[in-house]
Amino acid sequence: LKSFSLTILGSGSATPTKLRNPSSQLVNIHDNLLLIDCGEGTQMQFRKYNIKCNRINHIFISHLHGDHYLGLMGLLFTFHLYGRKNTLNLYAPEQLADIIEKQLYVSDSQLIYPLKFHPLQSDKIVEILRATSYSVSSFPLKHSIPTWGFIVKEINNKPKVKKSFIEKEKPSIKEKIDISNGADFINSEGIVFKNEEITLPPVPCRSYAYCSDTMFDESIIPFIQNVNTLYHEATFTEELKEVSAQKNHSTALEAATIAAKANVKQLIIGHFSARYEDPLPLIKEAKSVFENTIAAEDGLSIDILL
Ligand SMILES: [Zn+2]
Repeated sequence: LKSFSLTILGSGSATPTKLRNPSSQLVNIHDNLLLIDCGEGTQMQFRKYNIKCNRINHIFISHLHGDHYLGLMGLLFTFHLYGRKNTLNLYAPEQLADIIEKQLYVSDSQLIYPLKFHPLQSDKIVEILRATSYSVSSFPLKHSIPTWGFIVKEINNKPKVKKSFIEKEKPSIKEKIDISNGADFINSEGIVFKNEEITLPPVPCRSYAYCSDTMFDESIIPFIQNVNTLYHEATFTEELKEVSAQKNHSTALEAATIAAKANVKQLIIGHFSARYEDPLPLIKEAKSVFENTIAAEDGLSIDILL
């Protein structure tokens, strides 16, 4: 399997604690680095976990609450100081463009690398990035200000050419590519090998969905149905259900309910309120509804599994 992993850089909520930074995550898909949210402290986390941040070409910001983007401006300047050349693609609520422009203006700065801004606008699920082997889509969440979730998906997994066939018929590299694209094979004696006889079905595509911040909202279920790993915020436990709803956040039980109804394989909960020094009550509550739940921790790195 090709690389597809997630590193949590910040698992806390509005204010940083000793153990938790505000929201930020790094997705490595087929050696492409995607940054999702960029709370304060994200750059320090890059240093701590040896992440080569200059390799990040796409940044996704879910919404404009400070704990999800106040680390971004510093990072944009660091790229500048590093002499970055590659285009940086930024997918974010449209007002962020003005905020960045203002900050550049008052410091009389012009970034030396191209910054391409892609405003998030749709109230439906839409593909916002399509690369050769993966895609990213955004979909609306329900929060106190416009907020989007993201799905990172593998695409175009091709059938594998059978080993026994390769050893026997020794196809060239070009022929192997043609076969995995669906072609039949004819050997030097004119014998035809049908594509389905000489290939194994492709490995299923994996997917990861990010939902932070949001109140309990079943309308997102069709968007995240059957994803392999779901990150869903769980700021509070049920004990604070009312506070949670007032603040447009979710409880651990609600996050787990979404995971169960969407038939995902694995749930990661995070964005814990600073009042929970230990995530155990949150994880216990979530597991009562959805067993395969883990708690986000800063520095936690996991592979997205089938
Ligand atoms: Zn928020």
